Amino acid sequence: MGRVIAVANQKGGVGKTTTAINLAASLAAAEVPTLLVDCDPQSNSTSGFGFTRDANRLNTYDVLMGAVAAADVLQPTAVETLWAIPAHKNLIGANVELVATERREYRLRDAIAPIRDRFQFIVLDCPPALDLLTLNALVAADSVLIPMQAEYFALEGVSELLDTMERIRQSLNPALEIEGVVLTMFDERTNLAQQVASELRNFFGDKVCVATIPRNVRLAEAPSHGKPALLYDVRSKGAESYIRLAKELMDHAVRRSQPAPAPGAHPAPVLVPEPADIQPTRVTTIELQVEPNEPATVAAEHGSND
Ligand code: ATP
Ligand code: MG
Repeated sequence: MGRVIAVANQKGGVGKTTTAINLAASLAAAEVPTLLVDCDPQSNSTSGFGFTRDANRLNTYDVLMGAVAAADVLQPTAVETLWAIPAHKNLIGANVELVATERREYRLRDAIAPIRDRFQFIVLDCPPALDLLTLNALVAADSVLIPMQAEYFALEGVSELLDTMERIRQSLNPALEIEGVVLTMFDERTNLAQQVASELRNFFGDKVCVATIPRNVRLAEAPSHGKPALLYDVRSKGAESYIRLAKELMDHAVRRSQPAPAPGAHPAPVLVPEPADIQPTRVTTIELQVEPNEPATVAAEHGSND
């Protein structure tokens, strides 16, 4: 069964879409079948993958309204093992139209159930609101990845999301976990960023991802070219950092699949499949070596049709 990860934070502009696009692309680049679902009427992850605005293309709205099966909406992307369910601004209507429907919070969960086993990861890009769309994503998800900027009041902003998650756990989705908190637009050279990061580690413990995402202009430029950063500039710090984040989440998946160690026993060593020899697309060949706590070494050969 695919792991469904909602990328959520009701605060706007914290890097949800940038994380959803680049995480999904990096997972798929390791030849892991991955699906990106755009759950945001702003449709930024849709345009970030180069899909044009097309009101006639089936999208998340049609899936949520039950007009079409999710399997019939899957779109291939430039990364071979990555598919997308695009959004359109008409998705905003679902927030209102779903209110009166049955199982309104379960619409996304029910819709993706038949295709879950086709993918190892399903990444949901959420809007910046705790609305019915985000609620659907949190009910459909196994876990939540929370992008956060290292700002002084970072924790205050996230308390509402954590309260919502707690309420969802109590009723609609008891198994919902925190996948991780990922620091975005992170500048490790500043004292403030270091202080906030350590405050977050005190609060969230090992839920704070080891991989941090630096502020990197390539990450901001890539969507205007309709590409994830690893197809736009694989050598950029931004692309490297998301490849490291993807590896960390694959590592979580390996850990979960191992039986719990007997009480008192040393935990078994974790064998993480190295995402070496990644061949994400027809246009780029990447060899990736990531050592724990070492910068990633990424070498790319661009193909002829780039
Ligand atoms: P919204 O809440 O509106 O959905 P969001 O949380 O999805 O926003 P993004 O759209 O990913 O946030 O990012 C907000 C802006 O910051 C975008 O212009 C994006 O290109 C830029 N950005 C995000 N992450 C980075 C980064 N690591 N380095 C540089 N720019 C970034
Ligand atoms: Mg967004």
